Amino acid sequence: MKYRCQCITLEGRRCKKAFSFVCNKAKCCFIHANAYLKYVLTIQNAYKGYHCRKYVRLLARLPCDIQGKILFYMRYDAKKNKCIQKILCKKVDTLLGIPQTLRIGFVLAFFENPYTHTLIQMDKTEFANNILQISHLYKLYTKYMSIINHDYANALYFINHYVINIIAECVYRYHFIGGSYLYTKEELTALNNSMQELKKVADVFKLEYEYHYCQ
Ligand SMILES: [Zn+2]
Repeated sequence: MKYRCQCITLEGRRCKKAFSFVCNKAKCCFIHANAYLKYVLTIQNAYKGYHCRKYVRLLARLPCDIQGKILFYMRYDAKKNKCIQKILCKKVDTLLGIPQTLRIGFVLAFFENPYTHTLIQMDKTEFANNILQISHLYKLYTKYMSIINHDYANALYFINHYVINIIAECVYRYHFIGGSYLYTKEELTALNNSMQELKKVADVFKLEYEYHYCQ
């Protein structure tokens, strides 16, 4: 009797299982302890919050670069982070070119930049897709700020304005005023909208970057 659950079953008999918890001074088995689940979860949530805040206080006292390193290993697991990091680096490489060439591009004129040449060769569908992809890239880099490769984040941050200017200039020179591309009214609206979106997400990335690295 000493080790048995004290609860009464639906048939009105005493439960035969061994007790695992003591809830409200009564011994309960796994099944009958379920009735207290609501309270258990509330207590656990409160404790988890307390536990986390304890470490956040510790973390806040550390220098920024060490904070960054700890966050890298805390968010998801390190192996997965490396994998995400690799994928994100590759996305920049294929969309914009490797950061080294991007930084040289920083001082290049519009026509001298390799990225301009890639853009000019695109038809209007490819061009529209490219804008969407760059937007998405900025979103991803914002989302994974704490685990992305610092060199790439850095490059993306410093070329931010430049890339948008190149795209805007391309829109103006080749797409907006017609030229070899004939746009319908809807396509032009879509193009304008994705340009606005790009500027917006790039700004969000910039803010997040500054918050993360420049404090
Ligand atoms: Zn029971």
